Amino acid sequence: MVVAMAETIFSKILRGEIPCHKVYEDDRVLAFLDIGPLSKGHTLVIPKEEVATLDALSDESAAAIGRVLPRLCRAVRQVTGCEAYNVLQNNGPDAHQAVFHVHFHIIPKPNEREGLGIRWPSRELASEEAEALAEALRAAVGQPD
Ligand code: AMP
Repeated sequence: MVVAMAETIFSKILRGEIPCHKVYEDDRVLAFLDIGPLSKGHTLVIPKEEVATLDALSDESAAAIGRVLPRLCRAVRQVTGCEAYNVLQNNGPDAHQAVFHVHFHIIPKPNEREGLGIRWPSRELASEEAEALAEALRAAVGQPD
C-alpha cells in the first residue's frame, strides 16, 4: 500500500520556498543546519525523496544518504572540534518525530549539558524469546539481493 505523504516544511526547503543554512547538496540528498540546535553544529540530512519514515525509503535514497553521512559527520567534527556526537533518526510521533519527512540528525555532544540527552531503560533479553524473535526477524528481512 502506498501512503501519500503530507507536505512538510522540508518540502518547502527542498523547493527553495523557505531558506535554510545549506551544508551539502547532491542529486538525492540535502543537508542543512537544524533551526533549533541541541548543540553547535547540529545538522539535518534529508533525502530529496518525500517519505515520512526510514522504512519507506527507496534503496537508492538510502544508499545516497549512507554514502555521504560519514563525510558530513567528519565535517561536523572538524568544524566544531567536538569528537563525540550522536546520529539520531526518529520515526513516528511516539518516537519524537515532529517533521514527517525522513531525516538524520548529526548532533555534537560537547558536554553533559548540551547535545542529545538519552534515557536508556534496558532490560534483560530472555534467551527463548530471543531465538523466536531473531527467527521472525530473519524471515521478515529476507536475504540480500
Ligand atoms: P524530529 O523531532 O526528528 O522530527 O526533528 C525535526 C527537527 O527539524 C527539529 O530538530 C527542528 O528543530 C528541525 N526543524 C524544523 N523546521 C526547521 C527548519 N525550517 N529549518 C531547519 N530545521 C528545522
